[in-house]
Amino acid sequence: MRYEEFHRWSLEDPEGFWAEQAKAIHWHVPPQRILDDDNPPFRKWFAGGETNLCHNAVDRHLAERGDQLALVAISSETGVTREITYRELHREVNVFAASLVELGVGRGDRVVIYMPNIAEAVFAMLACARIGAIHSVVFGGFAAHNLALRIDDAEPALLVCADAGMRGGKVIPYKPLVDAALAEAASPPPRVLVVDRGLDPGMARVEGRDIDYAPLRERHLGSEVPVAWLESNEPSYLLYTSGTTGKPKGVQRDVGGHAVALALSMWAIYDIRPGQVMFSTSDVGWAVGHSYNVYGPLIAGATSILYEGLPTSPDPGVWWRICETYGVRTMFSSPTAVRVLKKQDEAWLKRYDLSKFQWLFLAGEPLDEPTARWITDGLGKTVIDNYWQTETGWPVLCLMPGVELKPVKFGSPGLPAPGYRLRVINEVTGEDAPAGEKGVLVIEPPMPPGCLTTVWRNDARFLASYFGHFKDLLYSSLDWAIRDADGYTFILGRTDDVINVAGHRLGTREIEEAVASHPAVAEAAVVGVQDDLKGQVPIVFATLKAAGSDPADAATGMLRSVVDQLGAVARPSRVYVVGALPKTRSGKLLRRSLQALAEARDPGDLSTLDDPAALDEVKRALARGSDA
Ligand code: AMP
Repeated sequence: MRYEEFHRWSLEDPEGFWAEQAKAIHWHVPPQRILDDDNPPFRKWFAGGETNLCHNAVDRHLAERGDQLALVAISSETGVTREITYRELHREVNVFAASLVELGVGRGDRVVIYMPNIAEAVFAMLACARIGAIHSVVFGGFAAHNLALRIDDAEPALLVCADAGMRGGKVIPYKPLVDAALAEAASPPPRVLVVDRGLDPGMARVEGRDIDYAPLRERHLGSEVPVAWLESNEPSYLLYTSGTTGKPKGVQRDVGGHAVALALSMWAIYDIRPGQVMFSTSDVGWAVGHSYNVYGPLIAGATSILYEGLPTSPDPGVWWRICETYGVRTMFSSPTAVRVLKKQDEAWLKRYDLSKFQWLFLAGEPLDEPTARWITDGLGKTVIDNYWQTETGWPVLCLMPGVELKPVKFGSPGLPAPGYRLRVINEVTGEDAPAGEKGVLVIEPPMPPGCLTTVWRNDARFLASYFGHFKDLLYSSLDWAIRDADGYTFILGRTDDVINVAGHRLGTREIEEAVASHPAVAEAAVVGVQDDLKGQVPIVFATLKAAGSDPADAATGMLRSVVDQLGAVARPSRVYVVGALPKTRSGKLLRRSLQALAEARDPGDLSTLDDPAALDEVKRALARGSDA
């Protein structure tokens, strides 16, 4: 079937389409209704059906692929690689589930998981799914206050953590942050289960609250815990994501819709069949980690590679070496990671046997054309940009090599994924924007399976955040987009990041593209800052590829690139060349902090900041003055 036909089928006959896709997973009780759309924008997929994520990810594969690798957990930090078959995964998940049960965790209880990218994080997630507990993985890079906010919203019965993670050869203790978060939280869980990796010998334990996993595991070795059959729409997990307010939103996912959407995406989008190997470089704390390090590949009967460490350590060939060793077919990473590699010798891309490697998918942020070209040419493989959000849990825009690979257009994440009826609409009139004209990307209800079902215990916030912007209960992505005549969508950045220069609306994203197209530039961030004359003006913070280039020359070149490509209206008023840009641990640029610093305001919440030195660099650059 061709892409257009496949997508049309999903929209014209959603119930037929999704009933067909639902056959890919095991149902203990088949769905009674494929779509219950009686109360939009809430919707129930596969209503009345009973299934279980852990059963689909693990037990179901034992007969056919018990000895196949399910999970390969590689840490370039500790130097340890763990190869885990489906049979071993089944054993470990059962042991973990038995431990949870012993600690009093049951169906519907929340379990907060605060761990680095190690196999036990996957065991813990699957163990929760097995017994019907709702996991909420909190990214290990979040500090104690963020963790406390999430704990107070989720009100967990248990917190599972590790003693520490490692990054760049440095031990990063997790447990002290847990202790601090629990001291701050209003509803701390009564128990903390600690996976002690032996990285932090001085780790403190709270008597009566903290429990070591190792002895518990010993005690439960060989235990089997029956799976809890859940109604398709019961919550499977919560994943907190930042909104415009300071309080994170608990994106709530269901069970059946989630499993079916992932099963479809694995073959249709990521082109992975049972027995093949997928390597996602994400952290388990992000939506990508949930969908494509844990549930997706395992539901598909594939092998998933989990990686703890940097892309450049012990050397910039580490990821490609992993691809060679395990015969990776599909890799999933982020544009930021590629830009990190872009600063290294390109020869690393050519050093390994990538004959099994087919696709590199990149997501999470805009993929600029120079970066896309660099990695495409360097690897000699197809690089596919895909666009989605924590809320959707799987791609909204992508190309689908498992169905039919449409041509890649640099700068665009492509075409609608199945089940998504997408529109680009004018934010003032609410009418469809013509091809080539900018608007807001929205999803027409019903949202397909896999997308969030609500905000945890806050239907009102779910409605107001996403459905309160336009009529007809359209879901607003809060992203600007343009659709071209071929139906390819280009994402121009968040609706909350636009700047207005002398009455002209400009996407900082568009200016960044122009700046980054200058050959000396590695990465650029553009923010709008207040200007007495023009309202706002764009300013540029950029890092250079080679440390030796002359900052003033490069800065002048960047201005020229912008004026050449976008016109004088977009000309940045200042350019600051810095050694590093401030980013979150997930690689998102902290534009708001940059903007605040440039406006001599408080940089705001810096708890997700990856490298404090980058912020100091920016402050110094601002004090020094523009390089152009
Ligand atoms: P998150 O929920 O943290 O993954 O962030 C989702 C947001 O990241 C989206 O609303 C977009 O603004 C941005 N995003 C994700 N993927 C892409 C992509 N492929 N191209 C452009 N922006 C993206």
